[in-house]
Amino acid sequence: MSCQNKILLIYTGGTIGMEKKPGSDILVPFDFANIQDRIPELKLIEKEIDSVSFEQPLDSSNIRPKHWQQIAQIIFDKYEDYAGFVILHGSDTMAYTASALSFMLENLSKPVILTGSQLPIGDLRTDAKENIITSIEIAGAYENGKPIVPEVAIYFEFKLLRGNRTTKFSTDDFNAFHSPNYNPLATSGVYLKYYKHRILPPSSGIFDIHKTMVDKVFTLKIHPALRQEHLEYFLDMPDLKALILETYGAGNALTEDWFLTALKKAIDTKNMKIINISQCIKGSISPYKYETGKKLMELGAINGKDLTLEAALTKTMYLLSKNLSYPAFKKAFERPIRGEMTE
Ligand code: ASP
Repeated sequence: MSCQNKILLIYTGGTIGMEKKPGSDILVPFDFANIQDRIPELKLIEKEIDSVSFEQPLDSSNIRPKHWQQIAQIIFDKYEDYAGFVILHGSDTMAYTASALSFMLENLSKPVILTGSQLPIGDLRTDAKENIITSIEIAGAYENGKPIVPEVAIYFEFKLLRGNRTTKFSTDDFNAFHSPNYNPLATSGVYLKYYKHRILPPSSGIFDIHKTMVDKVFTLKIHPALRQEHLEYFLDMPDLKALILETYGAGNALTEDWFLTALKKAIDTKNMKIINISQCIKGSISPYKYETGKKLMELGAINGKDLTLEAALTKTMYLLSKNLSYPAFKKAFERPIRGEMTE
């Protein structure tokens, strides 16, 4: 069978792959090798579906950068053999994994679709089946020999969203993910509708994986009771290389001297990357709209524009691995690398 007819399912864990142990209420992972018996509808998709599973399926709260590497390595090893990849993942950290993979998979030209569910696959009212079936369909969707969605995306509850634009916003709605600053790549109703003008083109370069993601980064949500000693404590951490500040509104923060001085000192003496993103999930940093935003940018903070926290974190981890000077890091950060921010 040609690779264009084969999809690889990568099961990492999460609610989606759970079922009740016979005779009890305890949820345990089910065997993905038999997925077609569990979801007979998959036989209607004319694709060969193989699956690999993490040896120990994880609640996604336990996903760490080493697991991103593990997923990236599986995709790398199997890249030529499959038309597309579907990653089954817990929803809690799915947006982090999708964002990380978008940076780690260099020169991607095949679909990598993450999905999960709010209810286990064995549950009567589960959302898992539709999410899996449509994700597989999207991963295998080709036109004139070219994949329609050659990027890392999340499919959940009838919407296909760019992975590094997505954030989980609901603990209990089936519609659990938002992409506040970028419209869906596709929607699923009676028809599966692709919005091709929003989808990244396939890369023509040689596919590779970037494995090093530097974790010397911390995020700090500012708030009215933030204390000088707390900020200084973080900035003084010996091996911290970047601090992502979640500021108010369009990128505003307090203008008290101690705050600005501490940040400036960290930039000047430690080459610490100070990144400004907004606590608002929708909209962008407009640093020169208010005096309170202007002051922060004038001391050299990096403009995170309309990045999600997940994308800001993983983009920072990716760029830190390149050992750039402050100006070079700033320049690279403020431009989109994988469609994660608006130019
Ligand atoms: N805690 C679960 C996880 O993220 C929730 C889910 O799968 O939706 O693994």
